Amino acid sequence: MKDKEPSYKKHLVNCPHCGKEILDHMDKCPFCEGEIKGTYREINPKTLKKIKIVLWAVLGAVAVTLIVLKATGVI
Ligand SMILES: [Zn+2]
Repeated sequence: MKDKEPSYKKHLVNCPHCGKEILDHMDKCPFCEGEIKGTYREINPKTLKKIKIVLWAVLGAVAVTLIVLKATGVI
């Protein structure tokens, strides 16, 4: 059984500056005051662009589906 492990354990990451365990939502290390670059807080522009493309693709697909459904008289 792993329920002895505290739930915050899975949010622990190692500080890139001092190597101590810190929580992954922290943007500053409490031990060495080093700045932590969040793994999901900071979205890099390339990823953002990809997300945007996917969103537009999904939106387009939904629109096309609706148009087709309307044209064929389903809705
Ligand atoms: Zn540190």
